[in-house]
Amino acid sequence: MSRPVNFYPGPGALPLPVLERVREELLDYEDTGLCVMELSHRSPHIIRLIDDTVARIKRLLGVGEDFDVLLLQGGASLQFCMIPMNLSAPGQKVAYVDTGYWATKAMEEAGKMHREVQVVASSREENYTFIPRLDEVEVDAKYLHICSNNTIYGTAWDRYPRVNVPLAVDMSSDIMSRVVDCNTVDLAYAHAQKTLGPAGVTVVLLKRGLYDRMETDIPNILSYAMHAKHNSNYHTPPCFAIYVMNRVLQWIENDIGGLAALEKINAEKASLLYECIDASKLFSAPAQAGSRSRMNVVFTVDRKDLEEDFIGSAERAGIVGLRGHRRVGGCRASIYNAVSLEDVETLVGFMRAYEKRHSS
Ligand SMILES: *Cc1c(COP(=O)(O)O)cnc(C)c1O
Repeated sequence: MSRPVNFYPGPGALPLPVLERVREELLDYEDTGLCVMELSHRSPHIIRLIDDTVARIKRLLGVGEDFDVLLLQGGASLQFCMIPMNLSAPGQKVAYVDTGYWATKAMEEAGKMHREVQVVASSREENYTFIPRLDEVEVDAKYLHICSNNTIYGTAWDRYPRVNVPLAVDMSSDIMSRVVDCNTVDLAYAHAQKTLGPAGVTVVLLKRGLYDRMETDIPNILSYAMHAKHNSNYHTPPCFAIYVMNRVLQWIENDIGGLAALEKINAEKASLLYECIDASKLFSAPAQAGSRSRMNVVFTVDRKDLEEDFIGSAERAGIVGLRGHRRVGGCRASIYNAVSLEDVETLVGFMRAYEKRHSS
């Protein structure tokens, strides 16, 4: 069976070897005779699975004993609430950079919780086509929040700002797609369903030093300290999602050879696609140079009348997921970790042929 080439924005592509391994292990997890979904979350198997997953994440991200990794539920959207709730109190100041859609949502959620939201910088006036240049930031706030990769607009920070308060980063659509010095970050979070695995589990990386500043008067289920105290087993964790993510992490470490190797492949994929678009007379990419995402390549078909036809023809050719987000329209190819260089070559070949057919 030949599989479509998958550019869906999230949930997105998973590595085929991982899916095959999951199928193989489905009915008998580690010689238990049971499926991983049937095991008690207090069993040694699941405790070991969580420990191993956390250790792999820390190893891949290059962080040490001063960080905790939590595996939570609720997606990135729950983190929009947990961050203000844990790191500030109502009426206190919190700072955000507004790079569009998810970054905007994050700050709106803080506002709903009656934090005093300060927008430190924004690219809204230019349709979120760039990342504001910020190297050093001084704010009078409990933390600064940024979104590492803007999934909808196709922009990404190449370097995070240095700031005098804790830096919280939404890495949902680019975690483990490149080497990042996570030691410069105080709190980072990412759901799994874009670059790391299936929906259902959210990775939160946080500096242990933050616990001293955390609010304690919050429900247990929303408290980072409570999840940390119970090693991400405070309540039933999403065992199956954690298990699949664990196999993806093994794939990154053992098959790909780690984040530096993966970054190289991802950079090659992105430049191939941007070069194709920049050289074309039919397609264009609005994200400004220096701010372009390597995970979500947003582009338009300049002849508006052809846009639907382009997306439909691609689908008929076995290339799926190219429709842009409903907020911005146009097209988008999400080239997450599991999308191979060959997949991108297939897309580029299709785009060149399409342009040739429609130039007169
Ligand atoms: C997709 C996405 C979200 C939303 O994640 P959910 O898990 O659906 O809540 C948040 N932030 C970014 C950067 C995203 O790409």
